[in-house]
Amino acid sequence: MAKDKAFIPNKKVENKTTDIPPVLNDIKTLSFKEYQKYPEIITLPEPFKYVDQVITKAYIKEVTGAEEEEYNTPQNKENFGRLVTSICSACITQFNEDITPQRFQQKPIEWREIIRSMPMSDRDYLLFCIYILSEGTEIELKDVTCPNPSCRSRGFIVDIKEQGVRYLEKPFEPFEITIPKGYKFKDKIYNKVKIGTSTGIMQERVFPLFAQSPSKADTLTMASCIDTIYNDKNDAQKFNMDVARSLTKADRTVIMEAISESTVGIELIVDMQCKCGRQFPTLVTVTDFFVRW
Ligand SMILES: [Zn+2]
Repeated sequence: MAKDKAFIPNKKVENKTTDIPPVLNDIKTLSFKEYQKYPEIITLPEPFKYVDQVITKAYIKEVTGAEEEEYNTPQNKENFGRLVTSICSACITQFNEDITPQRFQQKPIEWREIIRSMPMSDRDYLLFCIYILSEGTEIELKDVTCPNPSCRSRGFIVDIKEQGVRYLEKPFEPFEITIPKGYKFKDKIYNKVKIGTSTGIMQERVFPLFAQSPSKADTLTMASCIDTIYNDKNDAQKFNMDVARSLTKADRTVIMEAISESTVGIELIVDMQCKCGRQFPTLVTVTDFFVRW
């Protein structure tokens, strides 16, 4: 999330005429203020399985100096994925009715592992909710500049309570898509993949790559959401970074669009209205609140 454009939820889900995967039909949208009834009890936009239960709810607390000391480390500042893991580990107090960090007192690592294996959508959503708990729904965007050349106003405030939250009521079901060209291997063509969901473990791996090159981050995002590539005859090959890299631009675009269409959580693109009259879209982030740069 944040500075990573790869994870901007894509709004243009409609206009698909044929074979809409069920998961896309299952995604619902409500405004943030309708969706988020209580500031401290968070309904997760993507329920996920943990051992024998489906986790749908998280309880959060505000950031205090103690949490800040815990997560504001040089290593976390270099890797936003790890930063999200640390903030969530410190500020989530419970999942559902009985899963608490105290339960893992002997093994604090396991609490962190649940946070790492959570869907990326939930982690990003929780980060916003932890921010909102102390600052409210108005977010200051210090670095945003009006694109009107005769204005160039800098610094805007957006209120995200009218922003949409895309959510699922049950865990994400991987769905199949067909790609236009396909992967060629030993005279065979493989042109179908199943899109799954990405987790915090992947977010931790993707972020450092994104700083190097967005294409590299796309390659890893694809490899993290897809297990195998196959064809109508059910021949299958393992889908890994080499396969992702060997696909054509057209195939990669189709896959990245499917991943972005199936991403849930708060819509991060906001239509800004400058006092000069210019309207422009901008990306909302809350990173600066958490990090002392
Ligand atoms: Zn302006």
